[in-house]
Amino acid sequence: MRMYWEMPYQGEFEARVIGAWTEGGAHYAVLDRTLFYPTAGGQACDTGTLGGVAVLEVQEEGDQIVHRLERPLREGERVLGRLDWSRRYRHMQRHTAEHILGQAFLRSGGWQVRAVNMMGAVCTIDLDGPPEEGIVRQAEALANWAVYANAEVRSYFIDQAEAAHHGLRRAPSPKVAGRLRVVEVVGWDKVACGGLHVARSGEAGPIKVLKFERYKGGTRVYFAAGWEALELFEREHRLLQRLGERFSTGPLEVEKPIASLQEGFYRLRAEHTLLKDELAERIMRGLLADFPNLTIWAQVPDWALEMVGKRLAEWPGVLALLVAQAEDKTRYALLKHKSRRENLEALWEAVLKPLGARGGGALVKLGVLPVPPHVALEAFRSHMAAVG
Ligand SMILES: [Zn+2]
Repeated sequence: MRMYWEMPYQGEFEARVIGAWTEGGAHYAVLDRTLFYPTAGGQACDTGTLGGVAVLEVQEEGDQIVHRLERPLREGERVLGRLDWSRRYRHMQRHTAEHILGQAFLRSGGWQVRAVNMMGAVCTIDLDGPPEEGIVRQAEALANWAVYANAEVRSYFIDQAEAAHHGLRRAPSPKVAGRLRVVEVVGWDKVACGGLHVARSGEAGPIKVLKFERYKGGTRVYFAAGWEALELFEREHRLLQRLGERFSTGPLEVEKPIASLQEGFYRLRAEHTLLKDELAERIMRGLLADFPNLTIWAQVPDWALEMVGKRLAEWPGVLALLVAQAEDKTRYALLKHKSRRENLEALWEAVLKPLGARGGGALVKLGVLPVPPHVALEAFRSHMAAVG
């Protein structure tokens, strides 16, 4: 027997275990009556304890409500059930807020709800109208007015056949046969729903739209409601406050210092690139002057390895080994201009491979060495001297 519809505010109950089994390492129980709401209709299930055993998940299987447990229970046992009330109340707030928002979108834009997801603190509601800021803002304001009206939220069953006479916001799913459960926010909204809701609209607020975006030809709206909206606001506010303190300004004034920091960063980065370019050019000219026969071996700053290497490879007549000391390794660039007759691959095999080099490339070989820069330079120098 499901007790949650009649007693949505009750968090404790007594029941008897009428079925208990273990399957694939998981333990299950069915009770003669339960307050645990199963995962259904976009609403996450309740958790809590049964006879002190944690309830991990609750599923609806046919007519039965099946509780998945951390440890097994015995059939026939009488147990005390306790819901995680904080979790359940948040679910009730989300669900009621979704009804209130659904009606608000109908009134502000004529939009109908296509789908909802309320499995997390940030919920989504998919609507059939194209995204429009004005409609979204108006719906949010209307929804919060409906919250402040503190209207009663009622639920009752009607015959499926009479549904058309009840002025429901949405035509009920044709899958539901027989009796239909209606949830009414008095004076505001009426819709078929099997979920759990708060008793008055005031308990579902505040309702905060967080963002919206185009989704499948309509609009997806993200929202938070009740405690969860307040908690989100608290986290965001603290973050802004911390940022404000770092910039010696108020939480709502941080945009300006961040923008000027960003601007300064972009300017410095552009300058930095220009300066590096200029410096790489000078390093290259210096090497050309130091090695008049254009067979070059030298250590360069790590940042300059590729920049200088690339320039030298384009200089007619150059053959070079550049090495650089990176944090914990030696990096190298072995390169030549296409006018040089040496075989770079053979040179690499003869000089760098014996030192344990890794890397590759055709006209420019880039890689790392397990030896200090000077060892590689000396190996290159003596090899070039030997081959004349
Ligand atoms: Zn509902």
